[in-house]
Amino acid sequence: MYIYNADLYCDDCGMNIIDKLTIKDSGDSDDYPQYVDEDYSETDSPNHCGNGPDCLAAETYDGRKVGAYLNQCLTSEGQSYALSEFIESPNQLTLTWIERAGIEEEAAEALFDSIWNQIKAGTYNQ
Ligand SMILES: [Zn+2]
Repeated sequence: MYIYNADLYCDDCGMNIIDKLTIKDSGDSDDYPQYVDEDYSETDSPNHCGNGPDCLAAETYDGRKVGAYLNQCLTSEGQSYALSEFIESPNQLTLTWIERAGIEEEAAEALFDSIWNQIKAGTYNQ
């Protein structure tokens, strides 16, 4: 995964951007894509390649093309977000977020209960 111009890109798109650049790596992601290992990167929400449907490794969910899923680790906040998005809008994309985050059925139930209780208590904010 690459960070470039305040956006995230999959490996294919990141390397494609680098191929087209004529400048040398400045070490600054504002100027030049910087590689980040997805497996050691945490996020509060699932991310896809910033090239969206034009991504070189685009994925199709429910007939809609989106940028490649970036396989970062979801924080507990991120897992809660993915689950609440799935509850609100159950589809292939939100299901994939849950599956790729490795949220097991038992953990999903616990998250569901937590969200349920927060909504009942009026303390839930998305
Ligand atoms: Zn891409």
